[in-house]
Amino acid sequence: MDLLNQLNRQLQALDEQSLLRKRRTVDSPCGPRVLVEGREVLAFCSNDYLGLANHRKIKLALQEGAAIYGVGSGASHLISGHVRAHAMLEDRLAQFVGAHLESPRAISFSTGYMANLAVVTGLTAGDRDAEIFSEALNHASLIDGARLSRAKVSVYPHADLNALAALLKASNAATKLVVTDSVFSMDGDLAPLPALLALCEQHGAWLVVDDAHGFGTLGANGHGALEHFDLRSPYLIYMGTLGKAAGVSGAFVAAHETVIETLIQKARPYIFTTAAPPALAHALLTSLDLLEGEEGRNRRAHLSTLVAQLDDGLRLKRWQRLPSTTAIQPILIGDNAETMRAGAALYEQGMWVGAIRPPTVATGTSRLRVTLSAGHSSIEVAKLIAAINALERT
Ligand SMILES: *Cc1c(COP(=O)(O)O)cnc(C)c1O
Repeated sequence: MDLLNQLNRQLQALDEQSLLRKRRTVDSPCGPRVLVEGREVLAFCSNDYLGLANHRKIKLALQEGAAIYGVGSGASHLISGHVRAHAMLEDRLAQFVGAHLESPRAISFSTGYMANLAVVTGLTAGDRDAEIFSEALNHASLIDGARLSRAKVSVYPHADLNALAALLKASNAATKLVVTDSVFSMDGDLAPLPALLALCEQHGAWLVVDDAHGFGTLGANGHGALEHFDLRSPYLIYMGTLGKAAGVSGAFVAAHETVIETLIQKARPYIFTTAAPPALAHALLTSLDLLEGEEGRNRRAHLSTLVAQLDDGLRLKRWQRLPSTTAIQPILIGDNAETMRAGAALYEQGMWVGAIRPPTVATGTSRLRVTLSAGHSSIEVAKLIAAINALERT
């Protein structure tokens, strides 16, 4: 039982540092209001930025998808699991972001985590002459992809173009891969994508853009960060997730058709896993129609109004609202225990806000991570603003 004692000691140490994580079980569909342990709370912590996760039309499409395709795909994409719905979704996704790429093609994945592992390893693994240039605040899945690839990894400081330029200039690698989040998950700010792309074109490097939080929310048509910045390049490799603003599940990579063919042939996180249920791909076709149509535009407009309302309303002195224009609105507190107390106090008042601690963020930068959704009303956001302002003073 020494082994168990060892684990228990590690868990206790986490608890003493206020780093132990707890799950809450939700008894309702994902939405602005959720039922937790018999109580309705206002959720300001999901990534359902447009409030589509429980949308009537997408639910009907999922039911229809199950009626047409059944449930399981039965195999990986390269065996017999690549079903018509996957093929239709990939074509649709290639169109969705294709205006920003050359010879666009898309490939779908079960999760964004796997898509990132696939891109980073698929383009570098087995290539002793590859170097990955990774932004310091990248998502864990990009970091894990870089580790798994065993390529040389150079981390550049957050948004530091000069540091990246120096690293690129000093590199002799034949394959160069610059990897970045577009919207940083825990800070909400945008990567300087136009300048990053210019550097990549200058140094012959791929630019991998993880648009998990931009897909569906950024750009006039919801096409994401590439539309927002009006970028177009054959060097771009775009990753979007489909379980956040799109309200369903899964992810995709879109890029030049040769890049996508390379992933199909070489990416182990694509090859060695069962294809997602085709009914999900079928439901996603409806979600993409909503994102691109009038409903998507209206929802994005409402979300922007709520972001502006929060920015106007917060009156913070000790805590610090990070400068973000996206749905991710972090409030920097610093101390783990104080962050946990603030999160618990809000929850007691019926507002669920993520309290984010290390290792998700750097030590000493614990924060409340408020996420807004088009599903929220301005009355609900006003309630949150009042509660945070009052809490900071106690
Ligand atoms: C959520 C997220 C992912 C992972 O996507 P999943 O579909 O949840 O696996 C990847 N990158 C970023 C930046 C994310 O926020």
